[in-house]
Amino acid sequence: MDCIFCKIAKKEISAGIVYEDDRVMAFKDIRPSAPVHYLVIPKEHIQSIAHLEGNHRDILSALIYTAKDLAVKLGLTGYKLVFNVGREGGQVIDHLHLHLLGGWTKKADIETMPHPGPLSSY
Ligand code: AMP
Ligand code: ZN
Repeated sequence: MDCIFCKIAKKEISAGIVYEDDRVMAFKDIRPSAPVHYLVIPKEHIQSIAHLEGNHRDILSALIYTAKDLAVKLGLTGYKLVFNVGREGGQVIDHLHLHLLGGWTKKADIETMPHPGPLSSY
């Protein structure tokens, strides 16, 4: 299968890997949408949240805990965790990935952060 994130997981192509264990990998997004932008993926190929099956509960939990631990390491006190699901949900790469987005500090940046933003911007 020609999947770019499977290739990153197998280290067939390089990425800015910041965390790895037997099931999960985290690396820098190549086109950051925030001052801090990482992707957390399962090493197993799962297409999207819509393709999760009953036996994927543990891996989904591992993605979220990995993102949370990474946020702590990066010193982020506030951040977004985002799954884009399907083309209509903005998903471009068909390998499940959790976006960790953060690093906004200025009020103006916080108010214009990617949707859904804070209530004050409505
Ligand atoms: P999505 O729109 O949710 O499918 O997001 C895919 C993300 O993958 C985008 O934010 C891209 O910038 C990122 N991306 C694509 N190719 C690479 C790559 N080779 N290394 C790191 N990030 C990538
Ligand atoms: Zn894949």
